[in-house]
Amino acid sequence: MAKVELKNLTKTYPDGVTAVKDVTITIEDKEFVVLVGPSGCGKTTTLRMVAGLEEITSGEILIDRKLVNNVHPKDRDIAMVFQNYALYPHMTVYKNMAFGLMLRGVSKQEIDKRVREAGEILGLTDYLNAKPRVLSGGQRQRVAVGRAIVRNPKVFLFDEPLSNLDAKMRVQMRAEISKLHHQLKATIIYVTHDQIEAMTMGDRIVVMNNGTVQQVGTPLELYHKPANKFVAGFIGSPPMNMIEGIIVVKNEKMYFTDTHNIEIIVPENLEEPIKTYINKKIVLGIRPEDFIINQNQVLQKGLSISADVEVVEPMGSEMNLYLNTGKNIITVKLKLTNEPPIGKPFIVNIDNGKIHFFDPISEQTII
Ligand code: ATP
Repeated sequence: MAKVELKNLTKTYPDGVTAVKDVTITIEDKEFVVLVGPSGCGKTTTLRMVAGLEEITSGEILIDRKLVNNVHPKDRDIAMVFQNYALYPHMTVYKNMAFGLMLRGVSKQEIDKRVREAGEILGLTDYLNAKPRVLSGGQRQRVAVGRAIVRNPKVFLFDEPLSNLDAKMRVQMRAEISKLHHQLKATIIYVTHDQIEAMTMGDRIVVMNNGTVQQVGTPLELYHKPANKFVAGFIGSPPMNMIEGIIVVKNEKMYFTDTHNIEIIVPENLEEPIKTYINKKIVLGIRPEDFIINQNQVLQKGLSISADVEVVEPMGSEMNLYLNTGKNIITVKLKLTNEPPIGKPFIVNIDNGKIHFFDPISEQTII
């Protein structure tokens, strides 16, 4: 298998759109790295440059320390799995998997061995003689993966492979691809716009926006220590609440206030970096799951928010509440047994150790 290095990778299309700007990432041997970001952020373009399907405007791509900028796609020892499966409808599952190897002149015996092995790994043994049209979406996607596996490539590239599957099948295939990664011990670069897919599958995640890398880290690093407001808002569901306000000092204590009815005490460990924001604008970030039930419904200074209940979404084990403070709508996720009445005030507490602050201009996390 192989290490993949992207160095200052940039892509400007002929129409002048710069889709990828100065991207530098190292994907270690056998690592599963997910590129995630909203539509149009440049993740597919990045993947296609690695595959050799898109010309590089500037920068370098190295596979196993070898510069591959000018190496033909078929000589890069890479296999790519696409969103639309791209199976040949008139060929059987067996032939679909075997075809690429036949073109490469691999012996019939070796092809048979590899196709049967891949069929075994992917649970397709009983379908080897079937045509794609009789298969479910998930099975077709497995054939597409099988076609990549039989090539025994250095690197696997996946471009939104689960987008065409229904929600249940997506969850199942997610687990299957993770399992496959452990079985094959392969280097994988996986593109998705779905942050849950990224969080559940990646060893590390690269969050992209507007063609640039926002942060690279393990799923939990991105969740607990987002580098900026974009990453904080993109990772996690429902998204982090962002509340604009200022920092004030009362009785020698620092508080965040939205200048309406929210007043939250700044935790001690953040007092030092927050000092420079006294009487200045700042953004407070708090995840829906970082609120605490206020059992007695009594306001606690610096810790509670009181707001009207607008919408209640019972999720089974938890409830999502949408609360209107008069200035902000905040999303709160709580393990409540009874639904609070709509339109009535409801008091929640903030888990103060879990709040984040962002600079309103640079949008960087203040630490
Ligand atoms: P999606 O999830 O929608 O595929 P993405 O993050 O993969 O998005 P890209 O497909 O890499 O993003 O596109 C990045 C930017 O480059 C977009 O603004 C897109 O419109 C533009 N782009 C992509 N392909 C071309 C092309 N062939 N010619 C011109 N511009 C392109």
